[in-house]
Amino acid sequence: MGARGLDRKKLAALRVREAEAFAARIPRSAALEARALDHLPGGVPMAWMKGLYRTPPLFIDRGKGASFIDVDGNRYLDFNVADLSMTMGYGPAPIVEAVAGQMARGAHFLLPVQAAVAVAEELSRRVGLPHWQFTLSASGANAEVLRIARVATGRSKLVVFGGHYHGHIDEVLVDGDAQGARPALLGLSPEAAASTIVLPFNDLEALEAALRRQDVALVLTEPALTNCNVILPQPDFLAGVRAVTERHGTLLCYDEAHTFQFAFGGLVGAWNLECDFVVLGKGLGTGVSFALYGMSESIATLFSRHIDVDIGPAGIATGGTTYASAVAVAAAEAALFGVLTPEAHGRVTALGNRLATGLNALFGKHRLDWIAFELGPRSGYCLVPALPRTFEEAVASLDYDFIDTRRVFMANQGIWDAVASAGPQASFAHSAEDIDAYLSAADEFLGAVVSG
Ligand code: PMP
Repeated sequence: MGARGLDRKKLAALRVREAEAFAARIPRSAALEARALDHLPGGVPMAWMKGLYRTPPLFIDRGKGASFIDVDGNRYLDFNVADLSMTMGYGPAPIVEAVAGQMARGAHFLLPVQAAVAVAEELSRRVGLPHWQFTLSASGANAEVLRIARVATGRSKLVVFGGHYHGHIDEVLVDGDAQGARPALLGLSPEAAASTIVLPFNDLEALEAALRRQDVALVLTEPALTNCNVILPQPDFLAGVRAVTERHGTLLCYDEAHTFQFAFGGLVGAWNLECDFVVLGKGLGTGVSFALYGMSESIATLFSRHIDVDIGPAGIATGGTTYASAVAVAAAEAALFGVLTPEAHGRVTALGNRLATGLNALFGKHRLDWIAFELGPRSGYCLVPALPRTFEEAVASLDYDFIDTRRVFMANQGIWDAVASAGPQASFAHSAEDIDAYLSAADEFLGAVVSG
């Protein structure tokens, strides 16, 4: 890693100064953290809330639109939107109304509601896969897809690409290569990791070599990798992935937990990608836990033959007591019909373009040979002159000291910037003025840390 143009001394000094300023602005959060430490390890109810930010935890009072306010009354214009899970913004009227109404009428029955049919019908139209099952999280959806793929193929192995993230499942929280994988974090099963093969993205030969052995059940990938900056597929890569998987009887799942919000119908719909499964999640519930996966006709036929029944032969291991709740389905229905319209997608894509164009202009102004990522609403900083095609190149395109200092600097300017691997990114609640506010703060930050 090493971004050209950064002055390391300036960066380090700014980090110290901004961290002090940040700490001084949040006395009420600090008091709550001190209290929380007695009962919540790390002072947070979920460890990522500390681990993602490398600043003392902010305790939040409320949010509205594209901003949230902490308990000290500081307002933050949010360019991470809870790692894309709040892409509709805070408190969007159609979703608030739908969720509140459903809560009052009963949040969950462990029986289907009408809206589940409407959501499945609409997603079939937008994404192109005809059948759907609902879960609580994208992690859960990926886990079920893997199980169905194992039953469908009679094989057990999984292929993912370097730079992947597919959630909290033992098989995918791995580091590795074509020879095999091992757990990337503590507490995971080495046996589960051993069933995974990690290949370089954008490398069809490596995929062909791995699938030729005919023991891989599933290739699981995002259409463009979004969890290590952005890695775009090279022009023929995704068509090639489909051809290779079909040739070797391996199933293909596109994980669109992030990218569904990048275009109307997700990238699978917008790019007309062929596959056996699609996973959606995160933003669709607007904070109510909700995710789902789509499957092809032939997979659905197999799935229907193996539905697990309470008393009877074993079926495919799927489901959970609070999955597909009426309130989650109401949130998703309102999101689809009330927020994620073709016009709104067009508006957000234009905001993403404004962000990327603005960042590129700033790189020019500060004489940096960097490039802004641009994929729908998503932008970001590529700190080298060429966009990455592989995980190694993606790692070389980012710099953790730069990200870390930028986040705390931006926070002190009232801007909540992206986490290490992500944007910034526009949400459905942002305006052009919000994008300009980000760019103006980014201009000031770059002025403070570039050499010369
Ligand atoms: N898939 C992708 C592509 C993701 O980016 C994430 C989360 N960042 C997940 C799956 C897991 O989502 P969740 O944490 O909601 O289960």
